[in-house]
Amino acid sequence: MPNPFENAMTQLDKAASLMKLDSTLLEKLKAPDRMLQFDLEIAMDSGEKKSFPAYRVQWNRARGPYKGGIRYAPAVDLDEVKALSFWMAIKTAVLGLPLGGGKGGIIVDPRALSIAELERLTRAFARALAPHVGPDLDIPAPDMNTSGREMAWFLDEYEKTIGRSAPGVVTGKPLSLGGSLGRDAATGRGGFFLLNAAASLAGLDHGGSRRVAVQGFGNVGYWFAKLAASHGWKIVAVSDSKGGVYNGNGLDIDLLSGAKHQKKNLAESGLGQAITQEELLSCACDILVPAALENQITAAVAEHIQAKVVLELANGPTTPDADEVLEKRGVIVVPDVLANAGGVTVSYFEWVQNLTREQWTEETVNAKLKEKMLAAWQEVRDAQKTFGGSLRTAAFVGAVGKITEAMRARGNA
Ligand code: NAD
Repeated sequence: MPNPFENAMTQLDKAASLMKLDSTLLEKLKAPDRMLQFDLEIAMDSGEKKSFPAYRVQWNRARGPYKGGIRYAPAVDLDEVKALSFWMAIKTAVLGLPLGGGKGGIIVDPRALSIAELERLTRAFARALAPHVGPDLDIPAPDMNTSGREMAWFLDEYEKTIGRSAPGVVTGKPLSLGGSLGRDAATGRGGFFLLNAAASLAGLDHGGSRRVAVQGFGNVGYWFAKLAASHGWKIVAVSDSKGGVYNGNGLDIDLLSGAKHQKKNLAESGLGQAITQEELLSCACDILVPAALENQITAAVAEHIQAKVVLELANGPTTPDADEVLEKRGVIVVPDVLANAGGVTVSYFEWVQNLTREQWTEETVNAKLKEKMLAAWQEVRDAQKTFGGSLRTAAFVGAVGKITEAMRARGNA
């Protein structure tokens, strides 16, 4: 399996060579500010004690406090967290948010734990992280297998530990605790805002080329599919970890979501023809939207992709080898550091609302999100016109420029 951290560094190297970045500065960008590692011991419901390894990697805060999600999964490892943390530093810079990059994770299968055990684990993580996070220092958020519920536990435990209110310590909170309207749908919505621009760049805006395949039907995949379907795009394939469904005439997203809520496998839902992950990635469609995990599009998979656009809503779904194959084949890849930045953008809005004690309407949040996503798209396109290369490399060039400028201004470069 390709290593996501090596992939991330390959992406950085490409941009660095294009912009002729000084090698000392490049080495500085390749090293995190801090890597924290914990063994979180909790009591299981049986009374037995169990330990879970956990990480928080704080990459770079030249442009503002570290910012990034917390992931719960059996496959979490330090290299994955490092890659995700680095990508967050790039992503906040691509969007021009005054934030740095960070990421965390716990090695755990959350489905194997009771809700009470998950709560104890999250609270243990919050206590361990309390000296290292805060609204002006490092601001976690949800990621895979975490949601507002975990953020509420985290916030409560953090506030108990420090003895005062600090709603801006995490984002993605429930509304009752200072969450932002529009945060749940933000990543999918942000990706949706780029759909027309990407389709038009690929020459897909003529005729009926509006078929979309979505890998992953969690928070991000669901909201993206729902918004795209309600704006006339045909969602022809959707999958989750157990397989997927296909219907060339378009799937009904609400019925699929209902099946998921009843804990049915999508592949066995009867709502479309059952397909495998491989079949989804290579199915007849115009836009392919990976919205699940890293390393799904390898060079071998890339050879068979029929889509003209890959809109990366997952983090790190395409390997560097696959990027090259797709570039050669003329497939446009809208990179994760741009395409899925809607989540961190609305997290930033949530943090601003917490700091100013304001509550914006959902219309305000969505309008500001659209403005930021389209401005970032334009900036990346402009960088591509200046430097050449793919949209990914162009996004990196712009982001690295902003981070190194901040490092220089501080006298750290
Ligand atoms: P989630 O836990 O809500 O959903 C993940 C989905 O992926 C589930 O439907 C799961 O069944 C599916 N999945 C897991 N393994 C799979 C596999 N092998 N093949 C196909 N599907 C598989 O997570 P999410 O929040 O929707 O995040 C999805 C991706 O988007 C991740 O890469 C995450 O880092 C990225 N992302 C999320 C946000 C956010 O705001 N939630 C923001 C930016 C990026």
